[in-house]
Amino acid sequence: MKFDTKVVRAGIYPDPTTGSIIPPLYQTATYVLEEVGRDKGFDYTRASNPTRQVLEAQLAAIEGGEFGICFASGMSAVDACLKLLASGDHVVCSDDVYGGVSRHFNTILAHYGLRFTYVDTSDPGRVREAIEKDTKMLWVETPTNPLLKITDMEAMSKLAKEHGLYFGVDSTFATPVFLRPLEYGADLVMHSTTKYLSGHNQLIGGVVITSREDIHERLRYVQKVVGAVPSPFDCWLTMLGVKTLHLRMARHAETAQRVAEFLEAHPKVAWVTYPGLPSHPQHEIARAQMDGFSGMISFELVGGLEAGRTVMNGVELCALAESLGAVETMITHPATMTHADVPKEDRLARGLTDGLVRISVGIEDADDILADLEQALAKV
Ligand code: PLP
Repeated sequence: MKFDTKVVRAGIYPDPTTGSIIPPLYQTATYVLEEVGRDKGFDYTRASNPTRQVLEAQLAAIEGGEFGICFASGMSAVDACLKLLASGDHVVCSDDVYGGVSRHFNTILAHYGLRFTYVDTSDPGRVREAIEKDTKMLWVETPTNPLLKITDMEAMSKLAKEHGLYFGVDSTFATPVFLRPLEYGADLVMHSTTKYLSGHNQLIGGVVITSREDIHERLRYVQKVVGAVPSPFDCWLTMLGVKTLHLRMARHAETAQRVAEFLEAHPKVAWVTYPGLPSHPQHEIARAQMDGFSGMISFELVGGLEAGRTVMNGVELCALAESLGAVETMITHPATMTHADVPKEDRLARGLTDGLVRISVGIEDADDILADLEQALAKV
């Protein structure tokens, strides 16, 4: 199957009892046994559920992996990956990760003896320098949230292999339409399915995909034992959302390119970061390893925080909202919203200024999005 066919069809078969083209929603907690010790493959929904199984097969297929393990949120998916490690282990992590990820690492996992070093993973030399004798995992987000830095997958894979590290990639911003990290040797790919994969701002979810049997076994065990599982209904909604992923991503990326070029040319805009702009420092790497640049843009206005506030409060079509990757265009202030818990000095050190504005470009008509930004910028 070609990729677009996989997105619509992979892992999904008509219901054997009714022929329903869409797999039915098994909204159940438990299953009646035929006799003691004999079930039909399911005994309790925390352990497994037919609707969740469909979604897991679908997501594994489009990511090019053997196994998909779904979780109740992107954060619980990240948490499960980190449970591959033990107290005393060290992780090298991208410095510009989603604020909720570094918050989890620093304020929860650090209490269990895990140690973290944050480096700019777009520079493989910095990653090499950060690896210690106890380093067990390399955790990369690409493009990063919110500065959209790109990490070279081949270079990371080589380093991870040389040092025997788990190589995990948070690929939420790229989606399997534009990047498939397993093809570059990643061991784990993680997504917040809340974002592009489900795509309609309708739920919270996460997934990890791997082709390694040992990792699959451990994560499946964590899923069952801890129980941070998505509801069958959320799995079913995600499965439907995924079926249009390729179409939505093409439109997100096409419009984002126009919006990024518009912003870059605008006199009130100081700078823009979007991997599809030739001015992006890792534009060439993005071109080489991605099939498109996705729908996220960050920028800063000449007037800094005050001007940014005026634009964010001045939009009418774009929604001032936390989150990203849905059909509606959303505008966010990372310093007070998505990355509010990152200490100010850390934020500033990595370039995440108070005036930074992030846009998740939706799939409305591009002219309407541009007109909305134009009128909001005119208020500055
Ligand atoms: N990873 C990235 C890159 C994110 O942007 C987010 C949420 O914004 C997460 C992980 C966490 O996902 P969730 O909100 O589904 O728990």
